[in-house]
Order: sequence, then structure tokens, then C-alpha cells
Amino acid sequence: MKPFLKSAAIRLWRVPLVNRLLKPVVFRLLRAPSMNRLLNSVFHFHQVELQKKETNEWDISADFEARSRKQEWIHSHLCCPQCDGRLRTPIVRGKTIQCRDCDSEFPQRTQALHLIHSDNIKNFEVEPTLNVSKHLYDEIALEIIADVRKRNGKILDCGAGLRAYPEETVITCEIVDYPTTDVICAGQAIPFQDASFDAVFSLNVLEHVNDPFLCASEIMRVLKPEGRLYCVVPFLQPEHGYPNHYYNMTRSGLLHLFKSEITPERNFVHPSGRPMWTLHWFLSVYLQNLPSPTRDKFSNMKVQDILAKDPISWVDAEWVTELSDQANWTLACTTTLVGRKREA
Ligand SMILES: [Zn+2]
Repeated sequence: MKPFLKSAAIRLWRVPLVNRLLKPVVFRLLRAPSMNRLLNSVFHFHQVELQKKETNEWDISADFEARSRKQEWIHSHLCCPQCDGRLRTPIVRGKTIQCRDCDSEFPQRTQALHLIHSDNIKNFEVEPTLNVSKHLYDEIALEIIADVRKRNGKILDCGAGLRAYPEETVITCEIVDYPTTDVICAGQAIPFQDASFDAVFSLNVLEHVNDPFLCASEIMRVLKPEGRLYCVVPFLQPEHGYPNHYYNMTRSGLLHLFKSEITPERNFVHPSGRPMWTLHWFLSVYLQNLPSPTRDKFSNMKVQDILAKDPISWVDAEWVTELSDQANWTLACTTTLVGRKREA
């Protein structure tokens, strides 16, 4: 799409009334099977284009043999995400996968195994996306991968995003059919048998899951006793996609999520999670969402200028009142709901 058309479409989409009216229609269209197929092909095109712009670090056209070596292990450890029951075997690429126990069916239209039941696409609020989440494994993940590889075990990367290369020790789960995705599933219904994995990664994912408590219990179910958890969650991060962002966590929240089953080895703020990242992200979005004259004035303010007055004294300032509606949501200090219980 031409840049000015794209920018106009994004501006239009951000108008609250347009967004409210169009969003349900667009997402209903996107969920239609034919649209889903179209979206997948567009998505792959989008990814190829994106790859061309990436550095060599993101050469995902690397050797895919590691994935095929993983297939056998995956097939022997899968279970039905609806009932934890047994799936009919053999599992053949392109053919519908069925559960022997509850008869659930999982049509296969993607390169990765697709194991989200159609009912749960709605329940878990799984929405199609063209967003590309891509990160390299950090030193903690690499240490765990090396440790598990030595023992010939397997790691579940739950909500892996696009990885730089297929890693034989790591099974990647995602709701997006990235070229490095092994299984498409929801974190709230992981289609693997109990105690399958020597470690589970959940790296900056749980804020996008509509039921992080259920997802945490699923992670614990598939993790072996003595298995290791590596979980990173945002605390003071602005609202961001994948389309949906539900819950951020404090350290107590994160510990509480797993405390009955996990003995912490380390509980700390990683250098990539220091407050500077929040400040930088917050101020960038703030500036981008002010109209031009006020943006210039705000960017010239000093920290001490802002702190010289109480927040209550700033409520009528231009840099406060002229911030876009979208940015008010993205960066809000609080969000509010007033409602009425539906009739029974
Ligand atoms: Zn089943």
C-alpha cells in the first residue's frame, strides 16, 4: 500500500466512532475461512517483504531440517486441546485432525499444525493479525536451551513469535502461522500431554492472553516435575498489540501466578526491563500523539519543569488536553468502567 494511503487508513481507523463501527465487521470478515486463507497468503507475502528489510540476523530461510526432525516428537506428545484426549493417528499434513475421545475436529490449512478449536477462537479472543513479533533468545533462554539439549529434552516456547531460526530443542507455539511456528494453539489450551517438557518459555506473552491464570495452569500441566520455567511479563508497559493487551503484572502478581508450583531461582529486573524502557516508550508515544506546535513545546520541556507542579496543576495544559484519544488509552494511568449487570 502507498505510504499516504496507509497513513490515511490508519488515521481513519483511529477515529473512535469509525473504529467502533468497523471493528466488529472487519474482524468477522477476517474470521471467515476463505478470508483466513487469503490472510495467510497475504501474511506470508508481508513476511517475505519484511525479511528483505531485515538484517542477516533474521535469516529465517535457514535450514528447516530441524523442524522435520521435531515432527515425530511433536506427534507423539500431542493431545486434544479440548479434552486432553488422544488424537487419531497418523497425523497427516493437510488432513483434518480428529480427537478419539471427544470427536473434536481441527482442519489443517496452515503450514504449522493448527490445534485451536473453532469454539475457542471466540472464547480466548484469538484475533488474526499481521503483526510480526520477533525476538532473539537472550542469555537466560540460551542457557536453558543448552542445558535441555544436553539432556536430549524439549522446551515449549509458548507464544514464541517469529524466531530467527528453527531450534530443534524448542517447540514453538503461537496463534500466528509464522515460518518458525510448530503448533498453532492458544496458551489457555495447550495441545500437549502432561509433563511433556523439560522447560517452558513464556516471554512477553501473558499480557496478551485473556486468561493468564488458565494459561499459567496449562504451562504447569505440560512442564515436567523439576522442569524450569522462564517467564517474562510487562509491568509498566503501555498498551500494545498483538491486537489485544489485557493484564500487566507486578512482581507479586507474577510470583502469585505460579507460586504453588514453582520454586523461584531468580526473581529480578532484567537489563532489558529497566525503567528506562518505560520512560522511552512512554515519552515516544506521548510526543507522537500531540499536534505539532504543542509537540515541539512539550519536547523542549525539562523533567524539572514537569515535576515543578503537582499533576492537578497540569490538567488544563495543552500537552495534557491535546493528547490524542488513542494515546490517552495507550498510556493511561487508570482505565475506568461503569456498567450495569445484564438481565438474567
Ligand atoms: Zn478431545
